Amino acid sequence: MDLALAPADAAFRDEVREFLATAFTPALREATKRQAGVFAEASVNRRWHRILYEKGWVAPSWPKEYGGTGWNTVQRYIFDSECAEAGTPALPAMGLQMCGPVLMGYGSDEQKAWHLPRILSGENYWCQGYSEPGSGSDLASLQCRAVRDGDDYVVNGTKIWTTHAQYANWMFLLVRTDNSGKPQQGITFLLLDMKTPGITIKPIITMSGEHEVNQVFFDNVRIPASNRVGKENDGWTVAKYLLEFERGHAFASRIRGALRAVHAIAKAESNGSGGALWDDGNFRRKISSVEIELAAVDFTERRIISQLSTGGNTGDSAASMLKLKGTETMQSVTELALEAIGFYAQPDQRTALGEGANESPIGPDYAATVGARYLNTRAATIYGGSSEVQRNILARLALGL
Ligand SMILES: Cc1cc2nc3c(=O)[nH]c(=O)nc-3n(C[C@H](O)[C@H](O)[C@H](O)COP(=O)(O)OP(=O)(O)OC[C@H]3O[C@@H](n4cnc5c(N)ncnc54)[C@H](O)[C@@H]3O)c2cc1C
Repeated sequence: MDLALAPADAAFRDEVREFLATAFTPALREATKRQAGVFAEASVNRRWHRILYEKGWVAPSWPKEYGGTGWNTVQRYIFDSECAEAGTPALPAMGLQMCGPVLMGYGSDEQKAWHLPRILSGENYWCQGYSEPGSGSDLASLQCRAVRDGDDYVVNGTKIWTTHAQYANWMFLLVRTDNSGKPQQGITFLLLDMKTPGITIKPIITMSGEHEVNQVFFDNVRIPASNRVGKENDGWTVAKYLLEFERGHAFASRIRGALRAVHAIAKAESNGSGGALWDDGNFRRKISSVEIELAAVDFTERRIISQLSTGGNTGDSAASMLKLKGTETMQSVTELALEAIGFYAQPDQRTALGEGANESPIGPDYAATVGARYLNTRAATIYGGSSEVQRNILARLALGL
């Protein structure tokens, strides 16, 4: 298997690098450096979204007819990797990577014509209403209820862990419309305008101190039946299709960037006996062991891309393996960073990290986000399918257990 870039792909990589060198402006770089969340906060991600939209590069995975780039699998991977290497803001996946593809697959012509251009431009900001208290991994047990009343569904219940609901003006959600059969059979997929009366959003502040997730309550919320995607009680089919897009690629580049930062910290921090932490054999051994994990993630990613680019189908087990190893390796890197900065991990740096903050972080600049990123990255092995669930998938699909 040839893992090297073909000349045309290398030329494409150079074009992306050239674009990033100017489009990812110093001000945006500075703002992004201070982000610790899964997705950059709205004020930052909207700016980057706009820049990519104007360039025509905001939706690499969409077909050209809907405003996508028309890039092949290798080009999309190169773009993802180069963005990760440059450290561009992480754009929320809910509109571009989740709802958009679902509407292309299952939406009516009217839904596609109205929603897709607004997802592309960033005018509409989406959140995902799947999980409920007690229904996460076992999503099919969800209980948020919708009852048909004339041309509307009337929704009552709650959703939890709803990322960026506080910014979103639209939500896609799963509701229970029937209880009579198997749990999967009575679920319906709806699109909700967040300005509809009866919605309450309560923030959940995570242990990293950030407001990324929320609990959303519905009290007799009326959703027009024309906002249903797919058939009534067939939302599980739509939901499963969407989950295929939830697991990202290009873990290796993001991990590599984070590990490079650990190298720099270890060279700057003292080992407590006159040298740098970088000279400490024990710490270097830990770095090497993560580097080996990273190499495995990197080669797995390249192997998958190589298979996809020659028309192969890698199946669910490859996506699960990458999600599992990618997130766990990233967690190891954040642990090393935490160890490297020592007691600078202690202060709560929230007030120094917000956009426009006029307070300096405590300690060296490189330490400011380490604590928050470490805490935030704990969630990576839970959302998008927990590590245990991924291992179950691998046991079934890859090992036949
Ligand atoms: C930061 C963050 C953002 C999120 N954003 C969103 C969002 O925007 N929208 C949304 O709908 N949801 C969101 N979620 C929810 C996420 O999808 C769920 O947390 C996840 O599916 C796990 O569900 P749960 O929290 O109910 O835990 P549970 O499913 O109750 O799991 C608890 C523990 O049991 C383990 N477990 C569960 N089932 C099995 C099994 N069959 N075998 C072995 N072990 C098992 C799990 O791995 C976990 O360790 C987010 C979560 C987090 C942490």
